[in-house]
Amino acid sequence: MGDITVLRLSHRAGRDPRMSTHLGLTARVYGAKQFLLAGDNDSAILQSLIDVKERFGGDMEVHHESSPLGFLRRFVADGGIAVHLTMYGLPYQEVIPDLPSDKPIVIVVGGAKVSREYYEMCQYNVAVGNQPHSEVAALAGFMERLNDGVFPPEHFKGGKLEIHPSGRGKDMRQEE
Ligand code: SAM
Repeated sequence: MGDITVLRLSHRAGRDPRMSTHLGLTARVYGAKQFLLAGDNDSAILQSLIDVKERFGGDMEVHHESSPLGFLRRFVADGGIAVHLTMYGLPYQEVIPDLPSDKPIVIVVGGAKVSREYYEMCQYNVAVGNQPHSEVAALAGFMERLNDGVFPPEHFKGGKLEIHPSGRGKDMRQEE
């Protein structure tokens, strides 16, 4: 699988902090290399994701993207694959097997209103069920299937804390 970027559109600083943070956390846990926040430049969201990386490891980059359409245009022109998550799209179960595994992918997640240009610029418009869904759940469902259900633990090196799976209680250790 090529590198994965998640692009979150139309973030509103006053209204969406929790949703956008959770999109960043979801992108990270499924192995995205980059999380881009478009809309308001909300440094608190970016910092909270950087804090998670410092504590729990990994190498996902987080940035504000002031020109999401320009970013997408360049990404596609450079040979990348743009996948727009939308309830109006084709079923994800059918699209994922067709995605090239050797090219970078950007997964575009909308906000309150997504303009026509995104539907046209992305090579794939993909639905996780053709019903209104939570954007976080749609991203998780899509990435889980894209990853074949595998969480890549090698993506989470370099943190200060490591969680050891436990059937009872919390087992969290400080890294040396
Ligand atoms: N009404 C908006 C529009 O113009 O399309 C969408 C609002 S929805 C709350 C926010 C985002 O959640 C969407 O842009 C899409 O990325 C994601 N989403 C919602 N339902 C989805 C579904 N069934 N499949 C995939 N993504 C979905």
